[in-house]
Amino acid sequence: MPERAILSGNEAIARGAYEAGVVLASAYPGTPSTEILENVSKYKDIYSEWSPNEKVAMEVGVGSSIAGARTLVAMKHVGVNVAADALFTFSYTGVGGGLVLVSADDPAMHSSQNEQDNRNYGKFAKIPVVEPSDSQEAKEFVGLALEISEEFDTPVLFRTTTRVSHSKSLVSFAERRVAEKKPELVKDMPKYTMLPAFGRRKHPLVEERIEKLKAYAESSPLNRIEMADTKIGVVTNGITYQYVKDALPEASVLKLGMTYPLPTKLIKDFAAQVDQLYVIEELDPFFEEQIRLMGVDVAHGKDLFSLCGEFSPQLIREKVVESSLTLQDVAEGLPARPPAFCPGCSHRGIFTILKKLKVFVSGDIGCYTLGALPPIQALHSCVCMGASIGMAHGMSHVIETGDDLTQKTVAVIGDSTFFHSGMTGLLNSVYNKGISVVMILDNRTTGMTGGQENPGTGKTLSGEDAISADIPAMARAFGIQEVVAVDPYNLEEVEDTLRAELANPQLSVIVVEAPCVLRYRISKPVLKVDPEKCTGCKRCLQVSCNALSLIEEDDNSYVEIDPNLCVGCTVCAQVCKFDAIS
Ligand code: SF4
Ligand code: SF4
Repeated sequence: MPERAILSGNEAIARGAYEAGVVLASAYPGTPSTEILENVSKYKDIYSEWSPNEKVAMEVGVGSSIAGARTLVAMKHVGVNVAADALFTFSYTGVGGGLVLVSADDPAMHSSQNEQDNRNYGKFAKIPVVEPSDSQEAKEFVGLALEISEEFDTPVLFRTTTRVSHSKSLVSFAERRVAEKKPELVKDMPKYTMLPAFGRRKHPLVEERIEKLKAYAESSPLNRIEMADTKIGVVTNGITYQYVKDALPEASVLKLGMTYPLPTKLIKDFAAQVDQLYVIEELDPFFEEQIRLMGVDVAHGKDLFSLCGEFSPQLIREKVVESSLTLQDVAEGLPARPPAFCPGCSHRGIFTILKKLKVFVSGDIGCYTLGALPPIQALHSCVCMGASIGMAHGMSHVIETGDDLTQKTVAVIGDSTFFHSGMTGLLNSVYNKGISVVMILDNRTTGMTGGQENPGTGKTLSGEDAISADIPAMARAFGIQEVVAVDPYNLEEVEDTLRAELANPQLSVIVVEAPCVLRYRISKPVLKVDPEKCTGCKRCLQVSCNALSLIEEDDNSYVEIDPNLCVGCTVCAQVCKFDAIS
């Protein structure tokens, strides 16, 4: 085993789980958290699994903890919304073996539908929040968080952000901790059975626990003061600490690694030593509000720094030191690279036809959400995992449906999202006499996060054979009469099927079975454009394939296909009116 390595924050969290003696880890993939479980699964001493959604992952973790095992549960920030039901009551029961819940937040929404600040969950659920600033801390803080979890009988929220999860830095390794005793089941109903009578006794203990954690935070190794020049003192956390050190090397810093509950005395002592106190934190004024409530004079916080998006050293320097200084943005001048369906993606043909029919598409979260972007622009709503079917159901119950296709709703959801939380929406829709058309795009993977296994793929996270959930059979078992299949690469068939189901006055499910071309490396002979036949009408460019490019010459323009990208799906050829692609 090497003694050190350069690891991403997510790789380091996995390493930390291994070294700290974690026995079970569960997760649902979601950027920026996905690589945590992918890397945990490489440690054979840890049982790890993908769960169908974050609530189930949390429940699996709670069971493991109650059985006395050290446990790690991981998800992206919005996943905690799904897991919150289990989490909030687990805060009352407390743990058996230590449990760390990793919430990977995504300021600037690199790959998310919102940028909620999950430190608020710590305050809301009354559990401690730990935040690393680099990969070494990401590894070490997992062990510390598990110790806090066991000492204070509480789950611990371990919050990272995209920049910590995906940045790489040097990490020193240690041996795996050997547990003093094996997991065992202990029947303790007052602790683990949250009937009102037991729950009422627990609530005061939870409040006492927060007071004890406050006292711990005052001298915890997670929090530290780095005194320098006393003109400016900065209270900060996470990746923002690195930016502050870069931008303001002269400033004194109170770095908070435990960001809830806060160490009141430490903050007051620090504030008393500096002329001006700045609170610099991405997203919500989480510290700032609490620090102001302590009666501490905060010179600047959210009056200077946005509630939205990510910070950078340049931004902090501009705001604090030299507001007139403009440092060159390294990203300036680079061409934009908007995301698009991969060449050959099975979703392309579906969205080409949905756009043609001008229906309202109630979308969901996955690769197919890219159907909202130009030039396709045929996905009209997307709120949260699994919402598409319920939303389409709600729409269809308030809209007068005639023959006007623009007033018809098609719900579009992928296989992994269907297993995550779409199934209950479909059951509701059939139970409550829904009339929508539901398209389940089954590409046999969790595509958007890089191709993870799910209950439909026939494999577990560790690569063992597993069941392969049969979506058409599930839909029929729910009581849906009309379940049909289409080939997404046959545009005529897609259009005919959609037209027929849109005219059908009952709920119908169209299952699109076509494996992800990227994950399964599917390709056919590449296509070519005949420049003699191509009129440069750009119709094929509307299918949004990166293999296609427009060549513009003086008085002539035509399309070319990059043979290194094309996988021969034929969708572009099917939309060309001049038979120029073959
Ligand atoms: S649709 Fe056909 S004719 Fe039009 S630009 Fe593409 S290849 Fe050329
Ligand atoms: S056939 Fe056309 S749409 Fe399909 S991958 Fe090749 S260039 Fe892209």
